[in-house]
Amino acid sequence: MEKKLFQAESKRLLDLMIHSIYTHKEIFLRELISNGSDAMDKLHYLSLTDETARGVVDKFQMKLTVDPEKRELILSDTGIGMTLEELEANLGTIAKSGSLQFKEEMTKAENHEQDTVDIIGQFGVGFYSAFMVSKKVTVITKAYNSDQAYCWESEGADGYTITPCEKDGVGTTIIMTLLDDTEEEKYSEYLETYKLKSLVKKYSDYVRYPIVMDVEKSRPIEKEEADENEEIEYETYVEEETLNSMIPIWQRSRSEVSDEDCNQYYKEKFYDHEDPILTLRVNAEGAITYKAMLFIPSHTPYGYYTKEFEKGLQLYSSGVMIMDKCADLLPEHFRFVKGIVDSQDLSLNISRELLQHDRQLKVIASNIEKKIKSELQKLMKNHREKYEQFFGQFGLQLKYGVVSDFGMHKETLQDLLLFHSSTENKLVSLKEYVERMKEDQPYIYYACGESVKKIDQLPQTEPVREKGYEMLYLVDDIDEFVFQTLMKYADKEFKSINGDDLGLESDADKKQMEEQIEENKDLLTFVKEALKDSVHRVILSKKLKSHPVCLSSDSPISLEMEKYFKAMPGGATPDMKAERVLELNPNHAVFTALQDAYKNDQEKAKKYAEILYYQALLIADISLEDPARYTDLVCELMK
Ligand code: ADP
Ligand code: MG
Repeated sequence: MEKKLFQAESKRLLDLMIHSIYTHKEIFLRELISNGSDAMDKLHYLSLTDETARGVVDKFQMKLTVDPEKRELILSDTGIGMTLEELEANLGTIAKSGSLQFKEEMTKAENHEQDTVDIIGQFGVGFYSAFMVSKKVTVITKAYNSDQAYCWESEGADGYTITPCEKDGVGTTIIMTLLDDTEEEKYSEYLETYKLKSLVKKYSDYVRYPIVMDVEKSRPIEKEEADENEEIEYETYVEEETLNSMIPIWQRSRSEVSDEDCNQYYKEKFYDHEDPILTLRVNAEGAITYKAMLFIPSHTPYGYYTKEFEKGLQLYSSGVMIMDKCADLLPEHFRFVKGIVDSQDLSLNISRELLQHDRQLKVIASNIEKKIKSELQKLMKNHREKYEQFFGQFGLQLKYGVVSDFGMHKETLQDLLLFHSSTENKLVSLKEYVERMKEDQPYIYYACGESVKKIDQLPQTEPVREKGYEMLYLVDDIDEFVFQTLMKYADKEFKSINGDDLGLESDADKKQMEEQIEENKDLLTFVKEALKDSVHRVILSKKLKSHPVCLSSDSPISLEMEKYFKAMPGGATPDMKAERVLELNPNHAVFTALQDAYKNDQEKAKKYAEILYYQALLIADISLEDPARYTDLVCELMK
């Protein structure tokens, strides 16, 4: 008999399983049961749509058997089975979802020297987990529509054998010869009825098919003539017991299912080690009847912000799983949501591909989107801390959602956003901001920067602060795009404190400003000429109070956006530049010095202009192209 070698990647995963110091080895049973359940789903699905598949098996069930003498734990299912090619492909290579994802994460973790052990619990580690507890694994399987059964056998090490064999009926039987007991691990526990019962209850209670086991029980022997003085005698007998409750958790009423049950279900099903932040349940009746159980994770999953991340909800039709990740059920902006949808109204006789275009799905998707939004709003209102934790993880996703598709989803998302407030010194929503706006306040003011602390120091914030108005501090690159997309909230426009008109001056202020501009017309032209193309315009500032200069932008691209574009791979193209405006404070002593120099010593005035421009750059947190030139100029003044 020829021994085949495991594919290299499988080998690595296998080694990991065999030498695993992972403490939750018991999850192997969950993995094998879930495979059995998947295999029965497949056959069940076929039998609903394909005449010939009907009646292939008389009972969909899994059976656990033990043989203590041989140290064998046996799990058999009446699922779709595997052909010779499938055996080879599925158990000899890592081709499949759970294990593949696991393998990728392992590689990533190894590269980052992360704790690899921790990761095992978070993924469907799949079939190979059987080797965590077994010295030998034998798989006997007969595929639907096939007359020949095959036996796959491996002791882990480096290879496996496949031989033709006999098997009654379609399905798969997995025989695990358990490892010898050690100080730390009592593998023989997996031969004990109580242990197996508790593992099934713990990990596989909601599996839709019965998981049965022959359980030894005892009962009193009934006698024809009972003699009161005689001791009652007992006899043992064997009874097949179903170990799992089978009713899927989402089909149970809320009163029957505790929060703890939901959390446990979520963690097992979606391989998370933390409870979800929110669990939503939908029980819709009417035009279309369905139940949904949705979860919002408490942290971004591995690779969440990458292309590889696949969104979607698991879709069931009357309890039969028809799609693992139905992407159409979730909008992009809520792609972090996990969960299942089960509807009896979805027609099963259409193919899985066609189902994606089902009108009913659209109705469900739209209801689900509304439900997620309203539950998040409730969370924000009633459990602020939790909401902020959620926002810390997925806020960026919501902001991307506002900006994407030309702002199509802004109405849905705007009330879920939070920004840092200058007056509250915490995160606030747009609604909260607008509700406490002062009567005379014309705009929603915002300021952009790298951090709250840096924004706080910007001279441009002074006039708004002086008025006692609240400002929103935008520290994420995308924030400004979000405001540009929203344009308004509750009829109030957004106003950057970098704009040259903040709408703060009185009529008298305006008049005074006009006079000042007139008086200094020549000086402003002079400064502009001195600075050449570095700036687009030089103006007298309406907003500076105690600082002499600042920089703002004439184009829709702000200084912050320009920085963001510059940091992008490939850098900014020339049209992605802010048109810089140098604002001078006409009421500052430095400005008087500039005026004097302009009158008396124009060479000196040129240098002043340059210095002021450099200072404006520094305040805006833009690095100087020629810092030596700046220090030279300052030194000259000090001489
Ligand atoms: P996953 O379940 O994530 O696909 P596994 O490693 O658990 O990964 O299983 C690999 C593949 O082997 C499965 O996708 C399935 O095709 C096949 N398989 C495993 N167990 C069974 C079974 N009991 N019956 C039929 N096919 C099975
Ligand atoms: Mg699996």
